[in-house]
Amino acid sequence: MNIAANTVVSIDYTLRNDAGDILDQSSPEAPLSYLHGHNNVISGLEHALLGKAKADRLEASIAPAEAYGEYDAALVQAVPRAMFQGVDDIDVGMQFQTQMDGGVQVVTVKEVNDDTVTIDGNHALAGQTLHFDVTVKGVREASQEELDHGHVHGPGGHHH
Ligand code: ZN
Repeated sequence: MNIAANTVVSIDYTLRNDAGDILDQSSPEAPLSYLHGHNNVISGLEHALLGKAKADRLEASIAPAEAYGEYDAALVQAVPRAMFQGVDDIDVGMQFQTQMDGGVQVVTVKEVNDDTVTIDGNHALAGQTLHFDVTVKGVREASQEELDHGHVHGPGGHHH
């Protein structure tokens, strides 16, 4: 069976940046499972995996446009510290969820002053080319329930 839209794909993967540092990897006993064609993973990874089958191994370098986007300086802004009422200690590197026009967005604190906090709405991997080393561990048809939900159920997926 080959990877196509509406299949459930399980992969072992290692993700590295341009410098070769490992940013993320699946653990051997717990492959990542996702529903192909439903934006569960970045589009560049879906494109690289399309048509592959179990036991196939591939390396893919994915540009920011097909990964987490270009770095957008407009997403960095200083906001009044008063917006963080109820948070006693605001430190650089902390992440918050904020309600934006497009839904919930995660912002990272870049700088803290007496009156303002500088936040960055870019994804931590924005602007980076991502290098994946992937082995396909399994491909199966999705259940109707999984298609309805838009994600995988069971091992490596949602439990609810
Ligand atoms: Zn579900």
